[in-house]
Amino acid sequence: MSSINPGNSQPAATKPIAGRVALVTGGNRGIGRAIALRLAEMGAAVGIGGRDAPALDATLRALQNLGARACAHAADVTQADQVAELAAKTEGELGAISILVNNAGIGVFGAVHERTEQEWDAVLATNLKSVFLVSHAVIPGMIRQGSGDIINISSLAGRNAFAGGAIYCASKWGLQGLTACMAEDLRQFNIRVSSVLPGSVATEFGPHSSAKNGSNALVPEDVAHAVAMLLTQRAQSFISEVQLRPLRKQ
Ligand code: NDP
Repeated sequence: MSSINPGNSQPAATKPIAGRVALVTGGNRGIGRAIALRLAEMGAAVGIGGRDAPALDATLRALQNLGARACAHAADVTQADQVAELAAKTEGELGAISILVNNAGIGVFGAVHERTEQEWDAVLATNLKSVFLVSHAVIPGMIRQGSGDIINISSLAGRNAFAGGAIYCASKWGLQGLTACMAEDLRQFNIRVSSVLPGSVATEFGPHSSAKNGSNALVPEDVAHAVAMLLTQRAQSFISEVQLRPLRKQ
């Protein structure tokens, strides 16, 4: 006898994370927006954060148009009080967060001796400290639930050195270390902590290179696909890192 899925026009298999609540930082545009939309298509209720209010509103509408329960809140992920409020408001509206995607990030590029202390502070706070802050706000609830997924959007710059990458690479190499240690801290609680390391993705981020603009370039949906893959692995499996690059170089 075929199973019935009341109130849902699609078969259960197409909504593999139905009933779960996700928070995506920087979910208002770029890669984070694509991840938020993909998680909604997969059945999750989705909360997004970011600072740009019109972009938050537009992505919230897109999530709701998919039929998802969703919310959007302006928050600067470098500020602990705003992060705590983002997590609390999301949980108040949607329920306990069991999927956290730490995606918000900025890029500042240039030779190390030409960059400033202010740029260092901004990049490290946005790309690295924020992951500590948001995770810190969300982990106790995941421990109470007995499971969870934390996916950090890192970069191949978290593995590779290149001229002009000093500050950005430092933030993403740091993120790789943070991710790996968090994974060890939290696996005992059934919480997976993993990272996705994309190469250049066609978004507004960073310098516009031929790698981004070519027809073979990665697009935000490719990163969303990697996140979807991490969330649909079997319960006992732990894919800890996904490196993602365009198949063809040109
Ligand atoms: P975008 O510039 O398109 O988007 C960045 C996102 O981060 C926006 O949603 C922005 O929202 C948010 N954000 C930035 N600073 C803050 C802050 N202080 N508080 C809250 N939100 C913030 O970049 P991408 O989508 O391309 O990048 C997303 C992630 O992917 C980053 O971590 C980046 O390092 C990583 N990545 C990107 C690659 C690429 O080539 N595009 C390659 C590899 C990794 P708002 O401005 O509204 O606050």
